[in-house]
Amino acid sequence: MALDAQIDQHARDFVARHHQMLIGKDWVDAASGQTFETYDPATGEVLATVPRGSSEDIDRAVKTARAAFDPSSPWRTMSPSERGRVIHRLGDLILEHGDELATLETLDNGKPLAIAKAADVPLAADLFHYMSGWTTKSGGSTLQISVPYMPGAEWHAYTLHEPVGVVGQIIPWNFPLLMAAWKLGPALATGCCVILKPAEQTPLSALRLGELCLEAGIPPGVVNVVTGFGEETGAPLAAHPDVDKVAFTGSTEVGRLILNAAAGNLKKVSLELGGKSPNVVYADADLETAIPGAANAIFFNHGQCCAAGSRLFVEESIYDDVVAGVADHARGITVGPGIDPNSQMGPLVSQEQLDRVCGFLSSGETEGAETVAGGKRHGDRGYFVEPTVLAGTNPQMKVEAEEIFGPVVTVRPFEKGGLPPDANNTNYGLAAGVWTQDLSKAHRTAKALRAGTVWVNCYNVFDAALPFGGYKESGWGREMGAEALKLYTEVKSVVTLL
Ligand code: ADP
Repeated sequence: MALDAQIDQHARDFVARHHQMLIGKDWVDAASGQTFETYDPATGEVLATVPRGSSEDIDRAVKTARAAFDPSSPWRTMSPSERGRVIHRLGDLILEHGDELATLETLDNGKPLAIAKAADVPLAADLFHYMSGWTTKSGGSTLQISVPYMPGAEWHAYTLHEPVGVVGQIIPWNFPLLMAAWKLGPALATGCCVILKPAEQTPLSALRLGELCLEAGIPPGVVNVVTGFGEETGAPLAAHPDVDKVAFTGSTEVGRLILNAAAGNLKKVSLELGGKSPNVVYADADLETAIPGAANAIFFNHGQCCAAGSRLFVEESIYDDVVAGVADHARGITVGPGIDPNSQMGPLVSQEQLDRVCGFLSSGETEGAETVAGGKRHGDRGYFVEPTVLAGTNPQMKVEAEEIFGPVVTVRPFEKGGLPPDANNTNYGLAAGVWTQDLSKAHRTAKALRAGTVWVNCYNVFDAALPFGGYKESGWGREMGAEALKLYTEVKSVVTLL
């Protein structure tokens, strides 16, 4: 079959394997012996069977990670420059196995193979390359202190930056490999040990990444990968008394559960949660770039991006042109299996997501939104949805108020004279877009938007050096860049009386 021929042989071999979890140097079944199935979202057929972890497996992984974090362990005694080298090697290995990893992403998640090759894989590799440089460059500072009640005393005071310890990392299914990289990169750069819990929908690339970690020379036990469902593996990891920190990317709803679970031992928490990002097009924008830009802001990765530009605001005088342009763009997108080179948009990740997104589409219809493009399921096999543009919405409608996490954008006009009044009218604050040729308007708008990232005349631009994270209910902390190191570092003040 022609499409089948697109599947990289290494990926095909990997998918066909008996899948096990990585704990220490061992590849193991779940302690219970249980497994679960993952599905190819383009067909709905079973793709692979993986171990169904439970709290027993989490306990074992935490003990293993703890041992790997012992001060005399190979990881803790490795020099910073050697640690940087093994992290860099991991980035190299990702590139070397790029076609295989990209194909695994496409089979497991559904995204077009060309996108997985052009974005997911190189961004994941670059994250490790970028973070590898920090191992030798981050550190504390020496401080000038004077203590009022000890006049004349001399001091030597400094700070030490130490790894936070054993870290649980729970990641979603929208960019499985890249989210693993965002999490692992800074944890490894600072010298932490990790239990990684990939999403149950997309565990394959994380398991392959576990192999590459060992091949790169990261000592066994530093990276453990436990597969399973959120409530059965994620929850015990977030609650575990011997875990020092939990880092989570996923829905705001589960983020709250993580926070509660972490309260027991007050472990450190970082959260990268949902979004409902405003994308603002002013009348003086260059529409040749703004129209496809606004369309890509929502349709990239099928709208399954926490930063997706899902609320489009267009200045009145150009409203009709922009709506027509974005709708044309939506209708022009070729929807099909990710493995097909002609596909520009693949299926949603799961039956659950298909049902969820279709639920939003019917609620939009009931609440009186006008469907300008798309609006329904695409075909009857696999989890495909049409790229959809909804007009005539308001902030009370579910489609404008809640995160859909699918290829659905709402669009509304706003009057000339500054920021659209509803741009910040959301509990989220992850990202935003601005399209204008007026430099000072761009910067004024960027300042006024309450969001962790503002893209001006572009959208969905990510780089390992750029901190990413949310205001308000979009999260706690910033991933990537030097900021990410802070999430994995304890600062110790040392004071010496001379
Ligand atoms: P989505 O709803 O988009 O699938 P989730 O936020 O449910 O996203 O999932 C993101 C990650 O969180 C996945 O790895 C999932 O298994 C995990 N997860 C889900 N529920 C819990 C929970 N109660 N505790 C810990 N992790 C969870």
